[in-house]
Amino acid sequence: MVTEKRGPVIVVGAGPVGMTAAAALANAGIETVIVERSPEPQPDWRASTFHAATLELLEEIDITPPMLAEGLRVPRYQFRDRRTGLIAEFDLTLLADETRFPYRLQLNQQRLVSLLWERLRTDPRVTLRFGTEAHDVRQTRDGVELTVRTPSGVETITGDHLIGADGAGSTVRKSLGLTFEGITYEERFLIVSTPWDMQVKLPGIAEVNYISDPEEWLFILRTPDAWRVLWPVPPDVDDATALSDTEIQRHLQAVAHSDEEYPVIDTQIYRIHQRVAETFRTGRVALIGDAAHLNSPVGGVGLNSGIHDAFDLTRRLIRIRHDGADLDAELDAFAAVRRQIAVGHVQADTQRNTDRLREKDPELRRQSELELKQTAADPDRARQWLRRVSLLDSVRRFGVGLAPAETHSRLAAVLADGHA
Ligand SMILES: Cc1cc2nc3c(=O)[nH]c(=O)nc-3n(C[C@H](O)[C@H](O)[C@H](O)COP(=O)(O)OP(=O)(O)OC[C@H]3O[C@@H](n4cnc5c(N)ncnc54)[C@H](O)[C@@H]3O)c2cc1C
Repeated sequence: MVTEKRGPVIVVGAGPVGMTAAAALANAGIETVIVERSPEPQPDWRASTFHAATLELLEEIDITPPMLAEGLRVPRYQFRDRRTGLIAEFDLTLLADETRFPYRLQLNQQRLVSLLWERLRTDPRVTLRFGTEAHDVRQTRDGVELTVRTPSGVETITGDHLIGADGAGSTVRKSLGLTFEGITYEERFLIVSTPWDMQVKLPGIAEVNYISDPEEWLFILRTPDAWRVLWPVPPDVDDATALSDTEIQRHLQAVAHSDEEYPVIDTQIYRIHQRVAETFRTGRVALIGDAAHLNSPVGGVGLNSGIHDAFDLTRRLIRIRHDGADLDAELDAFAAVRRQIAVGHVQADTQRNTDRLREKDPELRRQSELELKQTAADPDRARQWLRRVSLLDSVRRFGVGLAPAETHSRLAAVLADGHA
């Protein structure tokens, strides 16, 4: 077994997941060094949905209250057919007896990044190294060494543990030689944000809407800053064309006609992957968030589950550091449970969600619509559905950072049950 000493925990990546991990460790009095390539926190809007289970966890680092103060609470969301209208509406208040957050909180990811950064920059237990690029990770018998590039040259940072929260192209994952198996969608997704109220343009829609169509599916949702409309961009359309004013206006006009041009305040186009790292732990190094798993954004669970990774891992690191818990047992349990959730829940659900919207076969579309209608109409089935999409189901079933024996026993029970 590896022996324990007291150096800092190095966190690579000051995105929402890495900073959540650093805040949880700092709360427990553990020193962290955050290494971030960019000179300042990333300003991109990106993800915009926080689910009940995530808000419960973020309460532990006191980030939920400011998020609630800024965010938009959305209890109802709809599935629609682009041609025929409403298919089904789900109401998250059905979960009011089991969570204090029976809604989706709509808030741009960048606001969470800012709130975390404001918190960490004044915390004496946290060293923030912006403009510092991780290059290579080496494990020694009782610690880790990270080679970084800074504007003044190359240096080595040493620590007890290292958390790779460095996103999709993770240098940490590559440095460990881990594969990142999965698929990349042919189409890219384009998100266009407008300050115009889409509920005025499309009366009857909810504040979050998944809209299926065999030709061009959509999702339309509201954040405190704007309404976002997302559509897929086929592989034969290049980025410059997809992002041109003419194309964007053409698409928005097809979503809802307007005599005037839509004002557009933000655009993002990006590739979608479904990938999972072969393991989430090697020695003293663990991967969390997009560094460990990449998902379609339909359903908004990728970032949420990255935040759950951060809490699972840091609860274990706190036990290792404060209570002398067994390092291998804790980190193996982390890797086993979080990878199982990434494959069996997050990947399975986001793939199903995306397929439901883009299905072309008329009979499969009919069956999918019938399933949604029947589920929404039956309170027990609707509740089960909502528990799963709000991630309360995976959190209650598998726990977050439970002791290794309990984690393995829950994993075994779930697998024996034939569930993901
Ligand atoms: C354009 C875009 C739009 C998106 N929109 C949505 C959406 O609508 N809905 C949704 O659910 N999800 C969306 N996502 C996905 C979501 O943003 C991610 O799941 C989330 O950002 C993951 O957080 P993270 O902290 O794991 O990684 P990231 O946010 O990627 O943070 C990783 C950090 O690591 C830093 N870094 C990387 N390499 C190094 C290195 N070598 N050294 C030091 N630092 C490094 C990066 O600069 C970055 O700050 C979107 C992603 C993109 C790219």
